[in-house]
Amino acid sequence: MCGIVGYVGPRNVPDVLLDGLRRLEYRGYDSAGIAVLQADDIAVCRRVGPVGKLIEAVSPELTGHTGIGHTRWATHGGVTEANAHPHMDGPERIAVIHNGIIENHQALRARLQEEGVVFRSETDTEVLPHLIRKLYRGDPLEAVRSALQLVQGTYGCAVVFLDHPGTIIAARNGSPLVLGKGNGESFLASDPHALAALTREVVYLEDRELVRITTKGWEITRLDGAKIDHAIHLLEEEWGSGDKGAYMHHMLKEIHEQPESLRRCLSGRVVPEEGGARLGGLDLSPREIVAIRRVGILGCGTSFHASLVGAHAMEQLARIPSFAEIASEFRYRNPLIEPDDLFFAVSQSGETADTMGAIKEVQVKGGRVMGIVNVVGSSIARTCGRGVYVHSGPEIAVASTKAFTSQVGALLVASLMFARTRALGPHEGKNFGEELLKVPDKVREYLDNPGPILKAVELLTSGKYVFFFGRGVSHAVAMEGALKLKEVAYVPCMSYPAAEMKHGPIALIDAKTPVVAVVPDDIMRDKTLSNVQEVRARGARVVVIHTEGDHEAGRLGDVAIAVPRAPSLISPLLTVLPMQLFAYHAGLALGRDIDRPRNLAKSVTVE
Ligand code: GLU
Repeated sequence: MCGIVGYVGPRNVPDVLLDGLRRLEYRGYDSAGIAVLQADDIAVCRRVGPVGKLIEAVSPELTGHTGIGHTRWATHGGVTEANAHPHMDGPERIAVIHNGIIENHQALRARLQEEGVVFRSETDTEVLPHLIRKLYRGDPLEAVRSALQLVQGTYGCAVVFLDHPGTIIAARNGSPLVLGKGNGESFLASDPHALAALTREVVYLEDRELVRITTKGWEITRLDGAKIDHAIHLLEEEWGSGDKGAYMHHMLKEIHEQPESLRRCLSGRVVPEEGGARLGGLDLSPREIVAIRRVGILGCGTSFHASLVGAHAMEQLARIPSFAEIASEFRYRNPLIEPDDLFFAVSQSGETADTMGAIKEVQVKGGRVMGIVNVVGSSIARTCGRGVYVHSGPEIAVASTKAFTSQVGALLVASLMFARTRALGPHEGKNFGEELLKVPDKVREYLDNPGPILKAVELLTSGKYVFFFGRGVSHAVAMEGALKLKEVAYVPCMSYPAAEMKHGPIALIDAKTPVVAVVPDDIMRDKTLSNVQEVRARGARVVVIHTEGDHEAGRLGDVAIAVPRAPSLISPLLTVLPMQLFAYHAGLALGRDIDRPRNLAKSVTVE
């Protein structure tokens, strides 16, 4: 969500900013803008819509050596040019970009207006430049510090002052910021991805930290004034490339990368010869694993669906009472947290604000929480300290595909590891481990021959809405399938545990209502097939996702899609694949912006 870039140094600043904003486009946004320091004023250019429009609008004559750039994902105020960032103070000598939400903006705005300040936008952000102006006594760092001491809410922000060329002041509280070191130049971004082509040496800011950035480097202090020194991190190579290769869209490329991404997630971790698994990042001894009384898995959106599969696996395989919950609900319900609970926080970006809030709630209550994260060095990874990197590689398409399968993969590995200590003998452990290691090849086999996807898409785009259902882990897959089709193709969808249909939703089934039934050949198969019969009897047209060779299940579908056979707990890694392809091809057929669906952001850094 929202991107921030900043640069001081000898290069031509508009080029660096616009290139950085382009690299951040995948995060999702609705408008973009830059501010570049000139000798006598600050040049600002803003546009609604894609970064491409901003690039067209920036004059090729614009040059400079200090500047900031922003992509906005509107929270307060409509998507208009006036609301796009940067925002300026009255005399236009200070420019601010901001990611997050200033929660006390109304009170601050009212006070500033009483003092005669005229606002030019509807945003919460605009209080910042005016406050900074009011508190400015010649030292830009101290002005920003004093302003932020009056602010409640979340921010990653960057400020430039006409009086201080060669300097950017930035601060973070709840929205990520990373500093990049160059030779006689310094970079700032909300996401290391923007810096990958420029430097590999980065420093992550922590909450309530403030930084003065110059060409020589930076000086970090806490909001309360204490000095801080952070070690330099080296960016991972895998974050370097972001192109689509031979694919038309990132989403399709990422779907097809799943054999490799899953292999990276599983390899070296599943050890069939020991009948178990090793996850060094959890740093848990067998004695500690035996002492776990309950596992809670927290996530949002697709990560929540992966969490649901994880909770099933933890309970069924490791026999530990387990639950999955949406992080934003968990954090505000004053949950009971016991010292022998273990929580996992699942997030692709490692920056999800709702999940971060849930982590803090667990920690405040003395609980243990570990991250299941893709982006190395992200806020969630660092806040948890312990956890598992899912290693799916950069996921650029906003709708998650390969990160989902890697999250499920990582949770299955953790379940196997815990199960081997608590419940599974070496033989059963070995079998499960071997089945897991076969998945990447099975994913490849399916993707090479995915079945009548286009026929299914025709059916799914022919109704007013689509139902998805399944039972157990296949219900989680049904939820993920419905979410994907909503996100990418904007098709209204609902998902239910298959047995729930008859308790109400079946009232919506009439002739030709499209239904997707997830029916792998597991213990719930017969029950789910009865539910398929029930909706067919009322005229529904059904896409059945079934196990290869299960012809009886296949025959019940108007369209049948077969996936390779796998044990029930592993089946989501296969049954989800046709769902991803439905969403992709439906989006394509309906002319949607596949990689950047409307209103969505990749990294959801606001509550
Ligand atoms: N709350 C700010 C706005 O609506 C910033 C949104 C963002 O994070 O992009 O302008």
